[in-house]
Amino acid sequence: MMNLPLVLRGDNTSFVVVGGGNIAQRKIRTLIAAGSTVSIIAPELPAELQQQVSEAAQATWHQAMADQQLDFGNAEYVVLATDNSELNQALADKARAENRKVCRVDQTSSNDFIFPAVIDRSPVLVSVSTSGASPALTRYLKERLEAFLPLEYADLGKLMQSLRDRIKQKLPARERAAFWRRWIHSNVPELILSRQHERAESLSEALVDGADSAAGEAYLVGAGPGDPDLLTFRALRLIQSADVVYYDRLVNPRILEFISPDAEKFYVGKAKSDHAVPQDGINQLLVQSAQEGKRVLRLKGGDPFIFGRGGEEIEELAAAGIPFQVVPGITAASGCAAYSGIPLTHRDHAQSVRFVTGHLKDGSCNLPWNELIHPHQTLVIYMGLTGIPLICQQLMDHGMAADTPIALVEKGTLPDQKVHVSTIRDMPEYVANNSLQAPTLTIIGSVVSLHDRLNWRQ
Ligand code: SAH
Repeated sequence: MMNLPLVLRGDNTSFVVVGGGNIAQRKIRTLIAAGSTVSIIAPELPAELQQQVSEAAQATWHQAMADQQLDFGNAEYVVLATDNSELNQALADKARAENRKVCRVDQTSSNDFIFPAVIDRSPVLVSVSTSGASPALTRYLKERLEAFLPLEYADLGKLMQSLRDRIKQKLPARERAAFWRRWIHSNVPELILSRQHERAESLSEALVDGADSAAGEAYLVGAGPGDPDLLTFRALRLIQSADVVYYDRLVNPRILEFISPDAEKFYVGKAKSDHAVPQDGINQLLVQSAQEGKRVLRLKGGDPFIFGRGGEEIEELAAAGIPFQVVPGITAASGCAAYSGIPLTHRDHAQSVRFVTGHLKDGSCNLPWNELIHPHQTLVIYMGLTGIPLICQQLMDHGMAADTPIALVEKGTLPDQKVHVSTIRDMPEYVANNSLQAPTLTIIGSVVSLHDRLNWRQ
């Protein structure tokens, strides 16, 4: 059996639904929402649905048990959802003899029509069907697609719908397809999806008036700590749509695989003291590419606004008048804490958490040591691996207990993550004797003691 997917106009079709159970109720709701004429034969309906039916101009409920003589009236489509399969069969035969289309919910293999699962972003509808093979698979696919289709696709659909007549009048038929291709590949859709409606509409107007669609834009995007599953939906969407990508060392290569094959990719990484491109150079590259009309993605590990110099990069973009977006990412502290079972705050251990950078400049590390010594505070140190001996010593010198627990989370959230736990007294020697690899995040405080019990990734 082959299926033919068609989309019917809701307000132009009439249905009979026989039965009032859960499945019937779902179909009734769908039909009311579509504005179809629907006549329901069921002994009972839940109060809330009764209310909906009475408010819908085209819906009527006949409170009765169905029998084999049921009159289908003018209905073209019949949904059979009673729990009596003999009755369903008899009604199916009768309806077909009267030239009506039948959908039986208890026996899907011979149905004349089926209800697909629908992702509703009206006017955009995405329907999923496994031709009755597996409702569970249909549901699963629908859930996955739901996650990839932000609600704002409805606004995008409406805006495009509102432009259609104007474009029809303005452009000859042979130019329309090219116009829409330019429009859909411009920044308008992305502006709608990030809810910047005014900018979307003014750019759209400019395109309708014949402006070049190639206005550049930049995205400063956090790629999270490593595990690609920790990307945000928006990050993924922008990674897939960028024309040119500048990424640094901390971005997992598996995330780079999401970049479009047509896009240019540049490594502007900074392995310690080995800047592939100096920071000033990166800022200028971003500005230049955007000025060439490209969609420029600056992809950074973790969150771009946490020890990521994100602020500096967008300052230059702002100064050059280039529109940009900033997309947060999961910062290393959150990723490493979660994936090592070390809560950063905990009512029995720490009421505050402090993120500091242990980056050593000229061998010195000028942290406000006194402020870091606090019994109910967790300390998270980014970029601190080489500074561990100095950091531990300074903390002890300023009064932190020598047996304060410390964890080094190596390659946090990645498959080869390792968690090294010790005390601030012993960690320097441990680091000297074990070759730890970057990136490594340091967590200091009594919350580290929870790792033994809460570590869920063995
Ligand atoms: N913007 C980033 C931090 C950049 S600073 C963020 O929000 O996470 C770089 C430092 O972050 C590294 O030296 C290391 O201390 C830490 N880091 C980043 N990713 C890490 C990971 N997967 N595991 C452990 N530490 C990480």
